[in-house]
Amino acid sequence: MQSASGVVVVLGSGGTIAGTAASAQEHLAYRSAQLGVAALVAAVPALHGLPLEAEQVAQVDSKDMSHAVWQALAQRVALHLARPEVQGVVVTHGTDTLEETAYFLHRVLAPAKPLVLTAAMRPATALGADGPQNLLDAVTVARSAGARGVLAVMAGDVFQAADLRKAHTYRTDAFEAGEAGRLGRIEAGALRCFRPWPAGEGLGMACIAPPPDSWPRVEIVLNHEGADGRVVDALLGQGLDGLVLAGTGNGTLSMALAAAALRAQAGGVHVLRASRCAWGTVLGEEQALPGAGALSPVQARVEVLLQCLVQRTSGVAARAG
Ligand code: ASP
Repeated sequence: MQSASGVVVVLGSGGTIAGTAASAQEHLAYRSAQLGVAALVAAVPALHGLPLEAEQVAQVDSKDMSHAVWQALAQRVALHLARPEVQGVVVTHGTDTLEETAYFLHRVLAPAKPLVLTAAMRPATALGADGPQNLLDAVTVARSAGARGVLAVMAGDVFQAADLRKAHTYRTDAFEAGEAGRLGRIEAGALRCFRPWPAGEGLGMACIAPPPDSWPRVEIVLNHEGADGRVVDALLGQGLDGLVLAGTGNGTLSMALAAAALRAQAGGVHVLRASRCAWGTVLGEEQALPGAGALSPVQARVEVLLQCLVQRTSGVAARAG
């Protein structure tokens, strides 16, 4: 599957893949985002001699992911993918918000070249560190003929951004794609694809050009026993641009939470109704509060954030995708 000799750019953003601990047995008390991306690449002998470039864009534990890092990542990815000699880009990232970053980059860029995110569940110092193999597999995907779109590679599995979910707190195969299924597998160093590469158009870089500290505020509120909607009213009091409801079952809401969400929507807040279930699509049209389809609540939050930004920057509403 590997094609010629295009350059692959590896962008570092931190995460456990760049983490270090005091001992090789330590899987919990480690510090994320310690090693530079050049060191991660250097630690994989199979990558030596390949036409790779490494660049550090950020160095964060992805639980602390921010608009500023997302903007910088998107800018660097767009710049490198526009270079004719670049075949693809790999981003090393933390696992905690990989699902959100992947969806953000998918919706903004939807590139015609491969943009492959990878991560690790064990720090680089662990006896069973999974980062080096994941990085090698990500480069393999980025160098595969015909590869395109935003992808994630973890534990030999290849996922499309929109299907990606972090599903486990500890296992090295922590990600799943549910009913949609994996896009492919890396087996003995080669990619086996089960589905076509993702296509589609991104929203473009213009909508994320505003300073990150001016981006809209979008919050997620969960439906649960006793949900009375007062948290929505409190948020409205602080200034809110967007609201994702992580509903029960098929995106259902308590009467009080639904009423509060309708008040928010009437006040100009952009509302999307997702489900707190791990899998499935929010089906049917509930009159006033639009459903988020198959997006997880955190992906729906990215969608609302981007739609608010598109409205701000062009006045035109974007379609989810
Ligand atoms: N907290 C880490 C991060 O997301 C976890 C990981 O990478 O596995 O950066």
